[in-house]
Amino acid sequence: MFLKRLEIRGFKSFADKTELEFPKGITAVVGPNGSGKSNISDAVRWVLGEQSAKSLRGQKMEDVIFAGSDSRKPINYAEVTLVLDNESQTIPIDYTEIAVTRKVYRSGESDYFINNQSCRLKDITELFMDTGLGKEAYSIIGQGRIEEVLSTKSEERRGIFEEAAGIIKYKARKREAEKRLEETEANLVRVYDVMNELE
Ligand code: ATP
Repeated sequence: MFLKRLEIRGFKSFADKTELEFPKGITAVVGPNGSGKSNISDAVRWVLGEQSAKSLRGQKMEDVIFAGSDSRKPINYAEVTLVLDNESQTIPIDYTEIAVTRKVYRSGESDYFINNQSCRLKDITELFMDTGLGKEAYSIIGQGRIEEVLSTKSEERRGIFEEAAGIIKYKARKREAEKRLEETEANLVRVYDVMNELE
């Protein structure tokens, strides 16, 4: 599986629809300071579900929308589509190409799509769990991330190995099941209370 294409429109400095092709092999993005190189990796993290405006170098999520320039008016929404080659069936679904889209409007409303089908953020997160591609995974190695890998804190290092080993999905499901169990137990206690009152 590899990143094939990134389509950006209205995201940060990319006012117009911009398509970046990533052929197999190494791609380097070069450009002067402030030309938007980091905005490309921000776009990848954002479409994969990043929810923290701060880690996208902004104050609020609206800051990812093109804010206007001397010659252009601001835009009302930002949209990013990430296209992955899935010929290898790394993600076991019936598609050889997977397109994930995220859209956000100034009103705060946002939409997510997998291959043009509307979905929830949770679906995107689950799709990429244990593939190394999630927003917390190791597909994008920022400076802080290198420190994490080298960290002496075993917890931080373990997170990376767990993603590579493919067990994050099961841990997440276990957490969900435990939460549901707790809710059910709380409901049971309430039922017993009501029964006691009625007796
Ligand atoms: P450097 O080499 O210095 O790290 P870079 O090429 O990585 O720079 P970026 O940090 O990606 O550059 O881009 C910064 C530019 O993006 C700035 O000019 C900033 O004004 C612009 N920018 C960021 N957010 C927005 C936005 N919402 N609307 C318009 N422009 C934006």
